[in-house]
Amino acid sequence: MHRSLLIAIACAAAAFTAPASGQTDDPIATLVARLELEKYKATIKGLTQFGDRRQGTDRNRAAVDWIDARLKSYGCPTDRIRYEYKTPPSDGRGRGNTRRGGNQAQGGGRLRGIRARTGVNTDPMKQPDEKLRALNMQPASDGPREEVFCTKLGTSHPDEMYIVGAHMDGHGWGEAANDDGSGTALVMEVARVFSSPDVQTDRTIRFVLWNNEETGTNGARAYIAQRQALQGTKDEPKWLGMIQHDMMLFDHGMPREDGTLSPEQRPEADVNIEFQASSSMSAESQNLAWVFEAANEKYASDYPARVAGHMTNTDSGPFQDLIPAISLRENERGTEIGAGWDPQWHQPTDLYVTYNDKDFRLGLNAAQTTLGAIAQLTGATIKSGR
Ligand SMILES: [Zn+2]
Repeated sequence: MHRSLLIAIACAAAAFTAPASGQTDDPIATLVARLELEKYKATIKGLTQFGDRRQGTDRNRAAVDWIDARLKSYGCPTDRIRYEYKTPPSDGRGRGNTRRGGNQAQGGGRLRGIRARTGVNTDPMKQPDEKLRALNMQPASDGPREEVFCTKLGTSHPDEMYIVGAHMDGHGWGEAANDDGSGTALVMEVARVFSSPDVQTDRTIRFVLWNNEETGTNGARAYIAQRQALQGTKDEPKWLGMIQHDMMLFDHGMPREDGTLSPEQRPEADVNIEFQASSSMSAESQNLAWVFEAANEKYASDYPARVAGHMTNTDSGPFQDLIPAISLRENERGTEIGAGWDPQWHQPTDLYVTYNDKDFRLGLNAAQTTLGAIAQLTGATIKSGR
């Protein structure tokens, strides 16, 4: 009697903290409710103290140390991948500048409607903030690189794991607040919730903050090179899927005729879940994408999710022929971001102050989506008696 009364009270309390799902006994809703807009914003803000976090610089190394310390403070034990990076000789073409037709997007989609200019800013003088310009001044140099990850160990199947990632490096002479401070903060916040001492999962989750994404996903490739063959040994659980988060904040719609964009998040903004239709794991990746779409439907507070088959240009790419791999973004990478839907992309304007709460809330909704899906896939429960 007494015990069941206590459980009833605990359930009623959970109902107040859970989003309006009406499911008082769903531990996943309780976990999702532990994500907070202000904490997400504070983590993005923390990352921007290291400027654009360009790979191969002191500010990038300081950011890796900061992320490592934060993850440890959440109770998520950290480790690092170490590799060498050497700038490849230039072939005179920019990255991704392949022989595509006029309306063909990167990743296989079709470009439609109004398009605006995109590119990477390499001119320090385009950054009007002198303090930030000075912070970003040290150039990248070839040499040793590190990237940090932390692991939530599963209880009944510790030897199987999902990889949840985002890239922590950026460029463009801003603060890389959206690309990819927003994805990095999302992964760190989800790691915080799963690392709470009262949370248990059947399967393992690894949270990885890739370095060198902007030079061609070299950090993700180093992880695969060093650990793919170790799967199933005591040193590396078997990989069940890879979920990447890259640019989570800004969905203001298509550019207007004059090249400008709406100053406000569009009310119909969505989280774009992409898999790669031409990959050898296409069917499995699509299944994973729909698990995330369903989790969004159930747990995300404001913005819906949309599935498409043109994942490209991010750290899930190197995994796409090996395991189920998807990416979550503010827009489709090829057809929308590639058509100029994000004017801050790789520009000096990618600053924390550029975004408002409607933007940050889209990122939070992606975090709710990923947390809900991963909790379900790994069999997350909350231990009672807290
Ligand atoms: Zn990115």
